[in-house]
Amino acid sequence: MIRLSSPNFDERKAPVEMLVLHYTGMRSAQEALDRLCDPAAKVSAHYVIDEDGEIYSLVDEGKRAWHAGVSSWKGKTDINSRSVGIEIVNLGHEFGYRPFPDKQIQSVIDISKEIIKRCVILQENIVGHSDIAPTRKSDPGELFPWKKLAENGIGLWTDDFTTPEKSTKEMLTAVGYDVTDEPAAFTAFLRRFHPEALSGRTSDSEKRLAAVCALYEKEMK
Ligand SMILES: [Zn+2]
Repeated sequence: MIRLSSPNFDERKAPVEMLVLHYTGMRSAQEALDRLCDPAAKVSAHYVIDEDGEIYSLVDEGKRAWHAGVSSWKGKTDINSRSVGIEIVNLGHEFGYRPFPDKQIQSVIDISKEIIKRCVILQENIVGHSDIAPTRKSDPGELFPWKKLAENGIGLWTDDFTTPEKSTKEMLTAVGYDVTDEPAAFTAFLRRFHPEALSGRTSDSEKRLAAVCALYEKEMK
């Protein structure tokens, strides 16, 4: 791990209970690191993971890094106070979104396992930036291998389809989404749990949402 020092942090106002994954969405890793350490940018993350798997530490886990912005999960805000944030190097949708290399994902898995254990983070609180800010963000995006992470004990996943018994809004809310903009929340759900249907909302998508909802409700009991 390479230690850098970002000045873009302050004191946490709540205990850590979430893990938030992002992509950098910039032209290069260096450009992202520079920005995340630039006092004028006022953004940061606890860790940055390069495409070759190299891990950079920018902000101490005990401090509040500034990565989530205006966001909400299960009705709670100030996600920066409640979370550890990891930026994963990728050009992103703006500059040429591409698959995440295996070496990079292995580093994401390794460090996430440590964080989850150290900070006691529940599976249902492991999210992507788009999950907590669906109207503003689309990272880490539909190419991010959430299924592989779940197979490694990081976050929840299901390949099931179940007949919905609740409204779409109720199901999205039960998972944790802010449904102020329901279509945006549904798109965030698709990116995360049904990426092959991202181009169009289908009856299968509703059934996948019902299965995810059941999984989350079971997990939260
Ligand atoms: Zn982000």
